Amino acid sequence: MMMGATVKNHFAQLAGIDKKDLYVVSIVPCIAKKYEASRPEFAPDGVRDVDAVLTTMEMLEMVDLKLIDPSTIEPQDFCEPYKQVSGAGILFGASGGVAEAALRMAVEKLTGKVLADQLDFKEVRGFAGLKESTVEVNGKELHVAVVSGLHNAELIVEKIIAGEDVGYDLIEVMACPGGCIAGAGHAVPEKIDTLQKRQQVLINIDKTSKYRKSQEDPDILRLYRDFYGEPNSELARKLLHTHYSPFHGDYGQSARRMGDSAYVTHEFTICTCDKCTSRGSKELFGNIYTQIKEMKMDAFVTVKTIRLKENHPGSIYITLDGKQIEESAVQNLNQNLPKLILTSVQ
Ligand code: SF4
Repeated sequence: MMMGATVKNHFAQLAGIDKKDLYVVSIVPCIAKKYEASRPEFAPDGVRDVDAVLTTMEMLEMVDLKLIDPSTIEPQDFCEPYKQVSGAGILFGASGGVAEAALRMAVEKLTGKVLADQLDFKEVRGFAGLKESTVEVNGKELHVAVVSGLHNAELIVEKIIAGEDVGYDLIEVMACPGGCIAGAGHAVPEKIDTLQKRQQVLINIDKTSKYRKSQEDPDILRLYRDFYGEPNSELARKLLHTHYSPFHGDYGQSARRMGDSAYVTHEFTICTCDKCTSRGSKELFGNIYTQIKEMKMDAFVTVKTIRLKENHPGSIYITLDGKQIEESAVQNLNQNLPKLILTSVQ
């Protein structure tokens, strides 16, 4: 989102392009970004920071569809004006990476000296649900908590809500256990040490990076000097910081579709609560899933289950793109699917 906001404002200004004419596609390991990009907080002035989100797996599928062999692609540098990448930024992909990058900055700020050695803060790395660390700088103690896996944040959140001083100077929370390397948009890990290996790749890139601290990346320094002014400036807060507001209601078809992948544009949802299960909803799920697969429509139509807690009338609860449909409508999808989809988009 920050990159999208920067491109739509800073790059648009540099290139003399109206930001409405820029289309930003974000390729990430994160499925949640699809939803996040469609939230109203990320469309100031009615122009979205990020227009479309592809997961890394979707990008690989596109490469595959175009019959491109990835091993034949020549790696290239990123483009100006965002060419340089710091090792600290690379570490963001694993749990503890954001905290480690912030510590590299905090130690320099507090000591007033350039941090040349001991750039590694290994105590915040790893896969534990909650890592706590105290770093001593200039006689001061920095207390850091790193949460991996959203459910592990609950304990800290409950204490904060209860008004307790948890005593941390910095709390990093990564929703996926292990961080973005375990994001649901990545390939599902097949081996027990897959995540450790992914983490190690990031650590190795950081170690061999020309710039290992965010604050020494020349492109970032130029960006702040020429555009944002300084960290936490009014413009930086406006474009890079977010406050979420509760949202109640339906985002509507267009917003939902915007957040969808390049392929999956329709979605069946079948309830598997006890009542629906007793009426055969699990078998129906299998039936729809098989029909979609046989029709080779699985790249465009997903089938998922939901377990509704509230009482719902009628037979098995089933929706297409959020609209309830009759069970009979899905019995012969070979014939009915085009009509169903047409009705769903109206
Ligand atoms: S930790 Fe998971 S949910 Fe959070 S940004 Fe990374 S991939 Fe997305």
